[in-house]
Amino acid sequence: MQIIRTITELQRRRRDISAAARVAFVPTMGALHAGHGRLVQLARQAAGPDGCVIASIFVNPKQFGPGEDFASYPRPFAEDARLLRQWRADILFAPTEREMYPEAAAPANSSPDPAGYRDPLGDVLEGKIRPGHFRGVCAVVARLLALVQPNVLILGQKDYQQQLILRRMIREMNFPVDVLTAPTIREPDGLAMSSRNRRLTPRERPAAAVVYRALCQAKDEILNGRREVKHLIEEMTGSISAAGLEVQYALPCHADTLAEFAGVVNDRCVLLVAARLGATRLIDNVVVPRE
Ligand code: AMP
Repeated sequence: MQIIRTITELQRRRRDISAAARVAFVPTMGALHAGHGRLVQLARQAAGPDGCVIASIFVNPKQFGPGEDFASYPRPFAEDARLLRQWRADILFAPTEREMYPEAAAPANSSPDPAGYRDPLGDVLEGKIRPGHFRGVCAVVARLLALVQPNVLILGQKDYQQQLILRRMIREMNFPVDVLTAPTIREPDGLAMSSRNRRLTPRERPAAAVVYRALCQAKDEILNGRREVKHLIEEMTGSISAAGLEVQYALPCHADTLAEFAGVVNDRCVLLVAARLGATRLIDNVVVPRE
């Protein structure tokens, strides 16, 4: 696996890849775990034996708000590179901030690119709690797509709202790339793997599993015909709060538009949860098909 730090070198390497070869791309912020591993595995399949798998590691300052964990976000680079090698990535692109945002003196979320892609879906749920977050995500992914020029982009369902917004951006901006969304990889007790889980203390860790349990319970209720939004919200909020977490949102939304249902869930839905457990913020989701 080749490690590339500069845009010039990436562009040179990209030109050397035959037009017939499929390029699959996995953008990450590092601190890799088995969830990222699944994405790289899917990328390997999508690229095929003669294709090229490119992963990136970039802790994107534009998607962190003031007071968020940009400075303390884990950056175990040597271990990440080892994992990517093990997962058979071909190229790791790991640029510096200067390299990605040469125009910005301090590329913080507080000064989002006014010309960048802005999606109305970026102002609800995660976007309401983290203003400007999705504009930061779109800014970096648009730049990465322009540089890497992949045939396939691999995203995780773990960040449901993010993959929805990025799919819309790709459609609107006509990036010639297919998007695959990989299912969420979980710990044995159901906790969705996340780079931030390493912050959970040994006392907190068992309680974190309540999020997925609550999501599964709500999904079962819907499938069993209990579709009242109020009831589902109360059930999820109640069980998650009872385990000592602070619920930020726990609700069913339309799986394609994130619109809230009036009264009852009557279409394909995604159950979305965000909750705080001590110093850690957990998000998770489960999709419920329309019967
Ligand atoms: P991150 O490094 O957290 O920015 O995540 C990089 C990519 O990995 C995103 O597309 C995430 O949705 C995806 N991802 C993160 N956690 C998981 C997981 N547990 N299972 C599958 N994909 C994940």
